[in-house]
This record gives sequence, C-alpha cells and structure tokens, in this order.
Amino acid sequence: MVSFPPLYTSHCRSAPPMSRPGADQLGDVAKGGIEQTPDLPTKRDYVSPGSLGSSTCCVPERNAGSYLYFEPGDAFCCRRMCLKEPQEADHQFVTHFSGWSQHPSGRVRSMLRRFSYVISIYLLVASSLAATTAHVLHTRANPAVLGGDPLASLADIKPKYLVLMVLDGARPDYFGLTPLPHVDALRAGGTQFTNAIDGILEAETPSGHATIATGSRPSRDGILGFDWVNDNDRYSLFDPSQMGALVQLMQESRAPTIAGLYKKQYPRARVVALSGHKYYAAAPLGGPNADAIMYFQGDSKGRYVPVAVPGHTPPASVLNAPELTFPTTHPPDGVENHLTTLLALTAVRQMHPRLLLINYAEFDWPLGHVYGGSLDAAKVIADMKTFDADLGRLEDAYRKAGILDQTLFVITADHGMMPITHFVPATVISDAVTRAGTTAPNIASSSADYIWLADATKAQAVAQNVLAAHDPGIQAAYYLTAIQGKPRYVSAGTSGVSSAMERANQYLLDSLLNGHEPSVVVFGGEGVSFSDPKTGWKADHGGNSWQSQHIPLILAGPGIQSGEVSSAPVQLEDVAPTVLTDMGVQPSGMEGHVLNDALVQSSSVAQHARAVEIGQMTPIVSALASESRH
Ligand SMILES: [Zn+2]
Repeated sequence: MVSFPPLYTSHCRSAPPMSRPGADQLGDVAKGGIEQTPDLPTKRDYVSPGSLGSSTCCVPERNAGSYLYFEPGDAFCCRRMCLKEPQEADHQFVTHFSGWSQHPSGRVRSMLRRFSYVISIYLLVASSLAATTAHVLHTRANPAVLGGDPLASLADIKPKYLVLMVLDGARPDYFGLTPLPHVDALRAGGTQFTNAIDGILEAETPSGHATIATGSRPSRDGILGFDWVNDNDRYSLFDPSQMGALVQLMQESRAPTIAGLYKKQYPRARVVALSGHKYYAAAPLGGPNADAIMYFQGDSKGRYVPVAVPGHTPPASVLNAPELTFPTTHPPDGVENHLTTLLALTAVRQMHPRLLLINYAEFDWPLGHVYGGSLDAAKVIADMKTFDADLGRLEDAYRKAGILDQTLFVITADHGMMPITHFVPATVISDAVTRAGTTAPNIASSSADYIWLADATKAQAVAQNVLAAHDPGIQAAYYLTAIQGKPRYVSAGTSGVSSAMERANQYLLDSLLNGHEPSVVVFGGEGVSFSDPKTGWKADHGGNSWQSQHIPLILAGPGIQSGEVSSAPVQLEDVAPTVLTDMGVQPSGMEGHVLNDALVQSSSVAQHARAVEIGQMTPIVSALASESRH
C-alpha cells in the first residue's frame, strides 16, 4: 500500500493509506496544496472531530474547480494549511476557484469586495508604475554606456548580479498576448529563444528547478519529480519537512549548482531563492549553497506568511517584514505572485544578494491546471500584467541601488503546460500491473505515467499490457531493462511512433536513469493526461508532449546579445552554464551547454560544444514539435 503523502503542517501528518496501490495522483495542483486521491474517500475516513490541533484534521479536497470535501464546522486542510475556522475559510476558498455553486455569506461577501478593491487598487498602481518606467528600461541594455568606460568592449562587462525568474509552467505563447512594458523591453534588449525545451523527464516542478540550478539532468542531479521508489519504499518530496532532504539529495549527487559555483568564486556573495507556496521549487532552485530559501505558508493564525527552509534562514527581519503577511491563506489570483515579489524586494533590501532566484508559482496553479493556461487568455493576460508590473518593481529597486546595469535578468519556466483533451482511465494502468502479477509501490501520473513496480522483472509485461488496452490516448510504453549491463528503456511496441519520435523519447527517457528510475514509463499523445479526471484539471504537464516540454527563455543584461531572437534548440540544462559564463564563472561539471548564441563573446570550445548540441537537438525538438500537430 502506498502511504498517503503528508500534508502541509505538522498538524496534518496522520492520514490513512490510499485504497489503490500506486495511485498517488499528485499533480501540480496537489503540489500546490490540494490533496488529490484517485478513489474518493468519505469524509469520515479523514476527519477527526476537533480543532486544528488534533492529529488528523485533514480532509482532502478534490476538484479545484467545483467542490471540496468538507462540511461547514469541520476542521479541514485546504490549499496551504489546516484552517481553524472552516466556515469562514471555505468561503474564502471560493474566491480562488470558479464553479463553486454556493453563495458566500454576507460577511464573506463584504470581505470579497474588500479583497477585490485592494487588488484593483494594486493593479492600477502597478500598471501606472509599469508605464512610467518602461521607457527608461528601453535604454537599459546599453552596457557600453553603463560600464562607465566608453572604451571598454561589451565583452569586458560581466554582470555582478543575477535575477532569475521561473514562471512556473508558463508557456512561450503567454508572451506577446498583450503589451508588457518591462518584459517586452527585456526581450527587445536581450536574447529570446523560441525553441527552448525542458529536455528532461519528469517535466515537473522539483526536477525542472533542480535542472535549472544544476545545469544537469535528473540522471545526474538525483531529483526525478515529486516521488519515486527506493528498495520498494515510496519516497515523497511532497512535504515541507522533506525540503532539507531534497537539498541533501542534490548535495549527495555532487552536481554543481549556480549558487555553489558562484560562491566558490565569490565566497561572500549571498544567494537567495524563494517562491510563493512552492517550497519544492525554491529548495531545488537554491540548492545546498543558497543562503536563504523561502516560501509562503499558512500560520497558526490563519495568515499567509513567509517561512524558510531550515539551514537556509534569512535574517529574522526579512521574514518578519509586515508587508509580507497576508490576512488569509487564500489570497485572490495574482496576490501570491505579487507577495513573492515583495519577499524578493525585502531580501534585496536587507541581504543584497548577488543571485536572486525566484519561482512564480501561480502560472502553474491555478492559471495552468485550474484555468487551462492558454485556454483562458484573459487570465493569462492578467497574470502576465501582474508579473510585468512586479518585474518593473524589481528593476526599479535595482536601479535605485545603482546596480540595474550590472544585472543579468533571465526569464524561463520549469516545464510547459498542455491543455487536456483526453484522460486515460487509471484502470488502464492498474489493470496492466495486476495482470502482470505484481503491484506498484508508486505511480506518478501527469501527461505521462511513471510506474515503479514491486517486481521489476514484470516491467515488460506491464508495458505490453498497457499497450494491449488500446486506449486512444496512449502513444508508447517503455520498460526498463539492462542492455550490456546498463539500464535502458525499451519500447514495448513500435506502432504509431516514428523513428524520429522514438529517438526523441529515448533522449528524454535517458534523463531518468539515476538509480531510482521507474520500471515503466507510458507516454500519452499531445493533450493526453493520466491524472485523475475528477481533479477537473484543464491542463497538465510532466511528459514528452511538446506542450509539456516547450518553455520560454529570455536573457538580458551585460554580455547578452541585444535584440536577438533565436530558433535554435535550447534545453533547460543550458540555463545555468550560460548564466555562470556570462557572470565570469566557469560552469565546471555541468552537463548543459553555454549558449554562445546569446553571448556577446564566447570561447571557441563553447561554440563547438554548442554546435554539437544544436546538431543533436534539432531533430529531437523537431520530432516533439511535429507530434503536437498530429
Ligand atoms: Zn512547475
């Protein structure tokens, strides 16, 4: 049996096991805090009467779009924490989702009006700030002027500061839907890659951020996704208490990180990594050497406050800054990303970090999973405008500090976001496992299915059984075997997969091979999800689909080519070595390549390596992209 993943506060640790083996359907919504279970538990399975302080206060919530599993008066766990006052809190929760059929009480309605008012004012101020600062930024990317020495060559100017912003699960087509003064200025003054991909599996938040930080794939850095199996024991990172372990895993992998290599050269430099609710993004982004790793969670007073990963705690004055406390744990759309920026600004003021690494969580959830991402252009535009205004605030702070022109800005995503057109029934997988005569200690379901088997010798049978179910959404099934003593995934059937796509799949599958890789991997076609349809999700990611893999990548600042748009293939692992090289630090030991096509100057060695990468990746990117047009 699989143990139910622990919830978010220490009050919520003892939950019963799920009823279907290996059926942990955690997606990024659950990753954002909603428990998802494949079989609907009854309320009494989970609730112990009593208040927040009881050992089992958790009621899993399902279906972010339409209903929650609790009744007024129960204590329950919601997106980020256990709440003391569910009757009030449940209505606050309503503000975050569409499709809720009940009407808030009068008191809550007035509260909602108050929130709407606050947000409107905020957006108004943010927009005007954006407009007034945009024209200044258009001139920012002229390092020859800013360097102070008109004779200095562009290549001599190295950025001293980094602001790396990961728009969690943001699609490239979010850029360009509406004028974004600050983002557009960065794009115009920097280099943009239009064919950037994750290049890894699982295309998930912890693994994506670990690859951004390490410039290496999960096969090297050890972070596969949210969960896996070691010696038939399920291991889950999905709990704040696991963040120390996550960082430890990265350390044990000995994969160098941006923070580690930079601090090796500049020991006194400070590195800050942070997120909204995604501790599992902030922790891998910062890694073992980050000075501060912070995220937001609910506190015992029902407020939303910043906290730190143990061992990576900033000065108390950062976490205690009054503007960082939000009065409820369910801020309306846009607020969490904005709070993230406020936390970043506080850290900048008080810690003066050389490297500032930010995860913007709302692009993934709720924008992606709940609203469908590109399916809801109005919500995409709203989030992008909020982000643009926040970018303006960050740039303004750096300008006032006199360091804007010594700063490299990077905008990217940890994975893509794929609107869902078909759900593969969970029984396709569970029946395949059962018929093969084994069980699955863990299954990670997303736009691919990753299956860890109790009896790994049954992997081929399970993969063949999956294909034999003839579900129209299934593209391919691979089983793990050993070829000449080395682990390797082998396709259980070749029908319907072109040789180009087979090579692309193999390239991605190789990124899983780190010793705790799944026994079977099943790919769906574009638009296909293995997550539980009862989640009500409209979009997903995690697998090999083009929309799961395709990500934005923009770099701008000293040493970066201005006004460059490149369609050359790029992978997430290339971000770290490129950033470090531009900052004058050798990216030793990283797997990724230096994107010399973005740099004003680069070595011939880097140019050769990059040319080899482009040669290798072009058919892979082309195969993945063409699959999306089928
Ligand atoms: Zn993510």
